[in-house]
Amino acid sequence: MDYKIIKLKPKKEESLRRFHPWIFSGAVQQKDNNLTEGEVVAVYTASNEFIAVGHYQIGSIEVRVLSFEEEEINPDFWQKRLNSALELRKSIGLLSADNNSYRLVHGEGDGLPGLIIDIYAETAVIQSHSVGMHESRMMICDALKAVMGATLKNIYYKSETTLPYKANLGAENEYLFGGKDVAEIASENGLKFYPDWVKGQKTGFFVDQRDNRALLERYARDRSVLNMFCYTGGFSFYAMRGKAKLVHSVDSSSKAVMLTNKNVEINFPDDKRHEAFAEDAFKYLGNINKGDYDLIILDPPAFAKHRGAIKNALQGYKRLNAVAFDKIAPGGIIFTFSCSQVITKEAFRLAVFSAAAVSGRKVRILHQLSQPADHPINIYHPEGEYLKGLVLYVE
Ligand code: SAH
Repeated sequence: MDYKIIKLKPKKEESLRRFHPWIFSGAVQQKDNNLTEGEVVAVYTASNEFIAVGHYQIGSIEVRVLSFEEEEINPDFWQKRLNSALELRKSIGLLSADNNSYRLVHGEGDGLPGLIIDIYAETAVIQSHSVGMHESRMMICDALKAVMGATLKNIYYKSETTLPYKANLGAENEYLFGGKDVAEIASENGLKFYPDWVKGQKTGFFVDQRDNRALLERYARDRSVLNMFCYTGGFSFYAMRGKAKLVHSVDSSSKAVMLTNKNVEINFPDDKRHEAFAEDAFKYLGNINKGDYDLIILDPPAFAKHRGAIKNALQGYKRLNAVAFDKIAPGGIIFTFSCSQVITKEAFRLAVFSAAAVSGRKVRILHQLSQPADHPINIYHPEGEYLKGLVLYVE
């Protein structure tokens, strides 16, 4: 191994011995000269013992660990890691003719900090959250082709907005492989949708709600469903299949509303039960009558993107849920979510509790929801847990 070296202060290797994959700048005693952000570095303890190898970055996290073994980060390494990620997904029965969309790599959860790869039918969408992953993109691309074989026809790289802006890498969103005659339709649990990785948010679809949508389908029968923050309508087309009486989808983005309509249409052509509205959530909720809906989904964007925003975010969740409690019909069900990583499930539950208390309604928790198995949480990296939800029965 011929990497530049970072040496830790005494005792600062303890979290690394427990496989926590981040090294904070405060733990670093000494580093080689001329380190460039994104390069691979070898990390040693104060007593000169090898402890990890990872990507160097500038900021409060100085190294994101790729391996705790003394190994080269070469094509073999990438293939091994991607293969192990794929094997996990296969072994839990995620890939089938009915389901060809899934997250193949979930950052630290798959031992690859800073890397996201989502698969939609024949296309992989790669998103780098660190300069190290950005610099490695061609190696990742080759390894991905080797691991996925002929089923993979396109690789789209989409990191323009996810890389640290200071890095100024001029990263462009582009196909690194394929890109001609791309199959536009993917499937999730037998339902079709158009993932729009080029113009859509994130990698083009929220794959993390798959299991929660399936649960919603079970409760949708004969209900009047309101899908707030619908984005591309995932919860809406599951509710349709679950035989909902009607489904209304709302998002402030008219592009999202268009995609929702398109995705509902491809599964349920000319089905008059569905309607979508481009409107602000609070405005829409403020204008409906009590009892209009007996199943409401609240899946807002992350209200807190960093710790400093936690307090306001909790107020936001409380306010949003309070309106839903106020408007839902007796015997109604609310699916309520938070995807803010910095908000714990306890804090979220407390915010929802406060909202329930304000409404004075009797509320019972039916389910406590989380992220699906293709978004695994490395047990040594609890920060990987981000999605939480509650299913509530409101009297
Ligand atoms: N439930 C969706 C994902 C939601 S992402 C799914 O299953 O795919 C959050 C969505 O909230 C985005 O589409 C965004 O456009 C929308 N949004 C953000 N602020 C909003 C607001 N004030 N009112 C309505 N929608 C909003």
